[in-house]
Amino acid sequence: MTCSSVFIYSDQFKNYKFNDDHPFNQLRVTLTKQLLEDSGKLSCRDIISPRKATEEELLLIHDHSYIEAVKRASKGLLSEEQALQFGLGTEDTPIFPGMHDASSLLVGGTLTAVDQVISDRVIHSMNLGGGLHHGFPQKASGFCIYNDGAIAIKYIREKHNLKVLYVDTDAHHGDGVQWAFYDDPNVCTLSIHETGRYLYPGTGNVNERGLKEGYGYSFNVPIDAFTEDESFLEVYITAFKEVAEYFQPDIIITQNGADAHFLDPLTHLSTTMKVYEVIPEIAHEMAHRYCNGRWIALGGGGYDIWRVVPRAWGQIWNVMHHSQSMSGLLPIKWLKKWQSQAPVHLPSTWNDKQNSYKTIPRKVEITEKNQLTLGKALQFTRNKKLFN
Ligand SMILES: [Zn+2]
Ligand SMILES: [Zn+2]
Repeated sequence: MTCSSVFIYSDQFKNYKFNDDHPFNQLRVTLTKQLLEDSGKLSCRDIISPRKATEEELLLIHDHSYIEAVKRASKGLLSEEQALQFGLGTEDTPIFPGMHDASSLLVGGTLTAVDQVISDRVIHSMNLGGGLHHGFPQKASGFCIYNDGAIAIKYIREKHNLKVLYVDTDAHHGDGVQWAFYDDPNVCTLSIHETGRYLYPGTGNVNERGLKEGYGYSFNVPIDAFTEDESFLEVYITAFKEVAEYFQPDIIITQNGADAHFLDPLTHLSTTMKVYEVIPEIAHEMAHRYCNGRWIALGGGGYDIWRVVPRAWGQIWNVMHHSQSMSGLLPIKWLKKWQSQAPVHLPSTWNDKQNSYKTIPRKVEITEKNQLTLGKALQFTRNKKLFN
């Protein structure tokens, strides 16, 4: 069975590039697209080009002064001092020529994905160029300039008045999106991430539950460093299902950062490709159960762009469009094309081989700790059920 879905893509996504040494590299979107094409899973009929977000759309979340600053920075017209006030020109988020246009295209890609689903042309869509969840109204942060996910949610709220569930499985806390809707009871955010004790951005504590009318609509499950597949999935499946049942969304947006994998160089979680098969499966199931299928998947982090991201993101499309993840060998054509450019040996299968990393002895302790955190995070949905 296939579900009507679109894949948003442009070669120009690669213009969002800080510098050659920066870990954020949009070549991963091209690698994913070609992996799917070479596997016979994606055809040109499935692909739609992104539009560019308008200034009015950027203003849904961002301040005018910040957008102006990004535009000036794009042309090299912003002083270092001015730039730093807006979080620009840092080691994480350096200035690059054309950054306004490149960032606007990523946002436009996410809005194109939204338009496709809202207009009922398709039921699922994905924009792997987006998912820049650390962008703030007047500040760039953590590789993110404009927050496409937050803009898309505001756009859905204002234009279509639907209840939005945002689920973020990036290894870093989805802070920008959470704070943008912290007091809004019609937007529910769920973020599962490595604890902020040692990892950027440091927030995403289990007690960040929302504000005013939005209280009870922000969920955070900070999991321990070195969490492995079983525990990650226990947390993810339980949290997603309970939160969806509690919130009853009209539409689901997932942020699919692929940096919780054991090979990722920026984080300390220990999951394998198994997790990246199940993540879209649950999202797909929940979208059909509560939202008539309406589901938009975004990209996000993911810094092993050769061995991890193409397979992880490829599985989202496989599940979304074909209702089934892939297994077995990767296409030779793809391996041949990219091995010569890759600085590492590319994996030959969709799945990770068993025992591909060294397990650590604290597994039981970590699992129990994550279960406790999960219980605290879901207290609110469970209490409400009790009292209603
Ligand atoms: Zn479907
Ligand atoms: Zn991340």
